[in-house]
Amino acid sequence: MILEVNGVKFGYNGKAVLKDVELDVKEGEMLVILGPNGVGKTTLLRCINAILKPKAGTIMVDGKNVLKMEPKAIARRVGYVAQYQARTRMTAFDAILMGRKPHLRFRTSEKDLRMVDGAIKVLGLGELAMRHIDEMSGGELQKVAVGRALVQEPRLLLLDEPTSSLDLKNSMNILSLIKRVVREHRVSAVMTMHNLNTALRFADKFVFLKGGTIHSAGEIRDVSADMIKDVYDIPVEILHHKGRPLVVPLN
Ligand code: ADP
Repeated sequence: MILEVNGVKFGYNGKAVLKDVELDVKEGEMLVILGPNGVGKTTLLRCINAILKPKAGTIMVDGKNVLKMEPKAIARRVGYVAQYQARTRMTAFDAILMGRKPHLRFRTSEKDLRMVDGAIKVLGLGELAMRHIDEMSGGELQKVAVGRALVQEPRLLLLDEPTSSLDLKNSMNILSLIKRVVREHRVSAVMTMHNLNTALRFADKFVFLKGGTIHSAGEIRDVSADMIKDVYDIPVEILHHKGRPLVVPLN
């Protein structure tokens, strides 16, 4: 098991958001956290990365509690792509190279540069490599952030709405790429996503968050119309396409 989350509680200013969350993710698996706006998906990702400190519970990555680790040790294991990226005056190349920081010794190595080059190619950022990221579109910036997380070589990738600024083709490309990385490198990914159909197409497993806990969880084929009605308060019909559920809202 790469990620094991148990009994996690977190609140802002005394207001409970996560009351008792548990989930786990195996090697080679992609989990999607689903649920309506404000339910605590981003908060949960930030707890898993120890950016936020839960009030109770444990978060084990590869059998070690991240809540007891130094930030650099966490960064060697966990890559995080936030929903919004800071626009600093830095080239895309340098921004991706920053992902190697947890592994850097005294200076940049051949391997570091090779990995950054590889990420730039595979993300189709070739022509933008020397462009400053404060002059990029939201979608381009989002790709840079994914590149930075990939070169970090994490065991666990956390992706908060990784396709929110991307068009259909770029969304499909990025999610296919992430899925390939997760499978081939035997790592894990946990993502949040608003678009249910995109989420169900790429993820292996889901959890629905409601009321601060896991409302339901399972394999993608286990998603039901009742769950969605209960969690999002909207009636839906579930069709099937190539073995995957397709959610059609009914009103
Ligand atoms: P989601 O990602 O599911 O949309 P969030 O994790 O962003 O939800 O937010 C969960 C709840 O916590 C919301 O009610 C939100 O208003 C609140 N919240 C988020 N960030 C903060 C913060 N920094 N301070 C206080 N409340 C916050």
